[in-house]
Parts: sequence; structure tokens; C-alpha cells
Amino acid sequence: MRVEPTAGSFKVMIPCELCGREFQFGPHRYAGRKVVSWNIMICETCDQMNHDGLDPHRHPELMRRLQAERVALRRLPGGFIAIPAFGH
Ligand SMILES: [Zn+2]
Repeated sequence: MRVEPTAGSFKVMIPCELCGREFQFGPHRYAGRKVVSWNIMICETCDQMNHDGLDPHRHPELMRRLQAERVALRRLPGGFIAIPAFGH
């Protein structure tokens, strides 16, 4: 997490754990969310781009960690992994 000063205020910036880019996480604007059961923060771009599932081959470290932690993964047709919905 990084606090970025702006004119008369500040932004909280957090790295997305899927694409690595930082996104604003308050105050006022929340450009991403926590995937609670995966315990990661993702930006809204990744959330939207992967609404039909995450390609596990593009995120091998995340997949290894989730499997090591025995997180139940919902597999979609084509081998993609469903990202848990908001609040899950
Ligand atoms: Zn992202």
C-alpha cells in the first residue's frame, strides 16, 4: 500500500495481485476489491477482464498458493477458474 499526496488530499494506492498495476483504494474512489476467500486485492480492470474466468496458466503462483491453502476453486468450461464474487 502506498499513500500518494494529491492537491489538498491523498490517495491510497494498492498493487493489483493479478496484473501488478497500482489502483486507487480510497478515499472516495475504490477501483478494485478484495477477493475475500483468495485473500488478494484485484483491480476493477482485471475483475472485468476475467469475469468469464481466470486463466490459471497465467497466474501459476496464485494457483499454487490457493491449492496449498486448499481453497475450493470453481472451474469453468475451458479450464478457467471463476473469481469469487464481491464479498466472497
Ligand atoms: Zn489488475
